[in-house]
Amino acid sequence: MIIVLKKHAPEHIVENIQNRLTSSGFIFNVIEGVKYTVIPVVGDFTMSDISRFKAIEGVDKVLNISRPYYLSSKDYKPKTVIDIDGVKIGESFSFIAGPCSVESEESLEKIALNLAAQGVKILRGGTYKMRTSPYSFQGLGENGLKILRRVADRHNMKVISEIADIRQLDQFAELTDIIQIGARNMSNFSMLKEIGRLDKPCMLKRSPSSTIDEFLLSAEHIMSEGNEKVILCERGIISFDSSSRNSVNIASIPILKDLSHLPVFLDPSHGIGVAKYIPNASVAAYILGADGIIVETHYDPSVALSDGFQSITIDSFAAIKDKISLISSVLEK
Ligand code: PEP
Ligand code: MN
Repeated sequence: MIIVLKKHAPEHIVENIQNRLTSSGFIFNVIEGVKYTVIPVVGDFTMSDISRFKAIEGVDKVLNISRPYYLSSKDYKPKTVIDIDGVKIGESFSFIAGPCSVESEESLEKIALNLAAQGVKILRGGTYKMRTSPYSFQGLGENGLKILRRVADRHNMKVISEIADIRQLDQFAELTDIIQIGARNMSNFSMLKEIGRLDKPCMLKRSPSSTIDEFLLSAEHIMSEGNEKVILCERGIISFDSSSRNSVNIASIPILKDLSHLPVFLDPSHGIGVAKYIPNASVAAYILGADGIIVETHYDPSVALSDGFQSITIDSFAAIKDKISLISSVLEK
């Protein structure tokens, strides 16, 4: 950090700051300019809230020059590939698809059968739904997770589902391959830490009101407990524009890829919230360097029990896959 003192700070103030830095074990240098004195400081700030230096008499500002996260950053490692029994995330572009909610074994079977035929390896399906209204469909709970597991196993697929409460952790550890931490729980730090103690891939969704730094710090909460199998998922941020459900910040894809070694996904479904825009946004995610997409897909969105208006059809999903593979073959040439 760099401590900048107020203009013409008197000698006794500079001395006071020097004494405090010395007693806290920091290494520093006092640079006296014509008007300002600046003090660059290095050391271990993990046990020290550096904003407290702003409260010292004579200090004008304190500039933090280091990133607040490490394990999720490229300084820690260049790239992460998550291997789920041969299904690799972070190596080539991955597709995750399935309904918003698991509705019944029959309807999920229809969806999974068609997606598996397209080569989709990971099936999504919510069973504990975090709905805005308590009167909306709340999901099938543990039974839904069992259905998801059974259907996926029949088609040799992996599953991802959203955990809503830490008391469900045992069920998720047993029945899922990837635990989804929803946007509403991105800052549920005790949940992040518990999942961090598992040896289990998880997908962390970005809260619509969080900054990229806050998002990566949430990943850091998981990783600092030992679990490095974290997938980041952009799903739109809050804005003044109501033409889409959230504003999909596609720029965050190259930004996250630049800052972090973790795989980065886009969820255009919850980000945009309008089915007809999902295909082009999915292709854009590929072009911008994302590692995959997770898309709500239904055999008939008009009968879906949740998020039907943003779910795309199986054919539409197939068209996205075809377009991405066409573009990738052109780019390879
Ligand atoms: C979901 O994927 O079903 C979901 C609710 O996502 P989010 O947490 O991004 O809203
Ligand atoms: Mn949904």
